Amino acid sequence: MIDETMDGSVDGKSCLEALAQIFEYLAGELSLEADARVRAHLAACGPCSSQLMLDRAYLSLLRSRSLLDKASPSLRRRIVQALFATEESRPPR
Ligand SMILES: [Zn+2]
Repeated sequence: MIDETMDGSVDGKSCLEALAQIFEYLAGELSLEADARVRAHLAACGPCSSQLMLDRAYLSLLRSRSLLDKASPSLRRRIVQALFATEESRPPR
């Protein structure tokens, strides 16, 4: 569950956008513009920067197993979405 009770500088939507791109950010696969936007959000948003640390650990785990290198971008996106799934966005299963 993502806490959307942010201060005025950060809204919930930008949190969702940042979190959705966090793995690509960590993998260095974002465009310069998107990278800058995520970086700025993470710098301004405590909850997301905490999430970044968790994701960095998770990413290094995946990397250590060479899973991420084999994963397609769409698969990685699904991994990210699964990690941050809420009741609304959880895929039906
Ligand atoms: Zn945020």
